[in-house]
Amino acid sequence: MTGPTSRPPRRSALLRATTVVAAVVPLCTAGWFGWRALDHSDPAAATAAPPGTVQSGGPASASPEAPPAGSTPTGSPSTAGTPSGTPTEPAVAPGDTPAPTAAADLTGRTIVLDPGHNPGNFSHPTEINRQVDVGNGHKECDTTGTETDAGYTEADYTLDVTRRARALLTARGAKVVFTQDGDRPWGPCVDERARAGAEARADVALSVHADGAPASGSGFHVIMPAKVVAGKADNSAIVEPSHRLGLVLRDSFHAATGEPYADYIAKEGLDTRSDLGGLNLSAVPKVFIECGNMRNSADARRMTDPQWRQHAAQGIADALTAFLTAH
Ligand code: ZN
Repeated sequence: MTGPTSRPPRRSALLRATTVVAAVVPLCTAGWFGWRALDHSDPAAATAAPPGTVQSGGPASASPEAPPAGSTPTGSPSTAGTPSGTPTEPAVAPGDTPAPTAAADLTGRTIVLDPGHNPGNFSHPTEINRQVDVGNGHKECDTTGTETDAGYTEADYTLDVTRRARALLTARGAKVVFTQDGDRPWGPCVDERARAGAEARADVALSVHADGAPASGSGFHVIMPAKVVAGKADNSAIVEPSHRLGLVLRDSFHAATGEPYADYIAKEGLDTRSDLGGLNLSAVPKVFIECGNMRNSADARRMTDPQWRQHAAQGIADALTAFLTAH
């Protein structure tokens, strides 16, 4: 979810982790304590907050990295507009995802998708380390995110999955707005990410992340907003609908990917937090999903697989569809 402010040169993961620990840098790989305190749980920790908001992307699936044609899961409406991109991807087996339903018409609905971090953050430590006000405290503008042992970054992962989800959702008629689409050098900051929902007049928003927890932990979890009324934050209006979204997303993602609930954090795949600017400052229903633990070998293997990422996108798209068509 969060991480170093500068990217270490390509070395062995072990060497890198060792260096990091020695340097007491708030890396996702720095171990349980550092991770809990700096990145994920401690509300007071002035570090690492995943995303929040901004604009961009544009509705259509113009992204060069969108899901490959042919990877459209069954049951979903026509994906004729599915962008092509990464070649050579196997078609996704339909099967285990909940049927997207014939009533999945999202025409007129707007969804903000927030790909966590930014591949360029590694090169902009000064910009992303700036502190921003998240209502009940201050957090870094943005962080670099984590990566697998093999060097597949969270920022690349979140962009890929989010683009795939966008293709599915736009095919159902939704307008999809990205907070960043790999089209800016760094960021945006978490407060800007949080504002994106309101600025787009969105019906719902979702931040996509992958975790950087200790290697022994695996599984995914969804993070829902705790009520925060402090300073410029007042998310009271979104707490209830966001929790509904969180439940739907947990079930849909689990069904689509087979990924187990996290065994190292949260409870039955659900967590509630008050330390994330992206949730504190959102004016529209919003949750985060930590799709798995990139530091865990089994999770990393799945997240590195494009076919699995298509399933992940399917679970996300189906959840947003279900949420938007349920009320
Ligand atoms: Zn993240």
